[in-house]
Amino acid sequence: DATRELLLSRIRDVPDYPKPGVLFKDITPLLADPVAFTALTDFFVELCARHGATKVVGLEARGFILAAPVAVRAGLGFVPVRKAGKLPGATLGQAYELEYGTAEIEIHAEDLSADDRVMVIDDVLATGGTAEASLELIRRAGAQVAGVSVLMELGFLAGRDRLGAGLREAPLEAL
Ligand code: IMP
Repeated sequence: DATRELLLSRIRDVPDYPKPGVLFKDITPLLADPVAFTALTDFFVELCARHGATKVVGLEARGFILAAPVAVRAGLGFVPVRKAGKLPGATLGQAYELEYGTAEIEIHAEDLSADDRVMVIDDVLATGGTAEASLELIRRAGAQVAGVSVLMELGFLAGRDRLGAGLREAPLEAL
């Protein structure tokens, strides 16, 4: 529909960034357009309501920008998942495979409880490694996964398949 067209028109394709052969999806034009940013926030808020989320997790760093206004609008708590070494409190950590090497993300476990249903929000689902690791963290913190919601899914990287098992009953939704 028209809203979806508007949002997609505000994503800029940047060739060969951050390295040759990669077509980078840049969401900064969307963030700079208040109509588009608000429409995207509304899209995520609706998914949170539909799937009964009680908390919103944003994945560093663009996921923070997208998830924080969703949390405020939906009246839900915001919990950051950060790259290892950035959170000062007691953390749970999860390592995951990258194309070359591994990465690790962390969460403050005390920010989630057993009755939480958590919606994970990020800009782009690529290989799905980051989202998959975040689902592990949420489950290890004792909470349930309400779903994973992204602005864009790079279908050719099969992130949806990688996430499959980790999602269990929860949905993966993209604009
Ligand atoms: P994945 O773990 O391979 O799914 O990578 C997802 C992470 O990398 C997300 O946090 C994205 O923000 C980032 N990412 C990967 N590709 C792009 C892109 O084309 N544009 C913006 N972010 C990207």
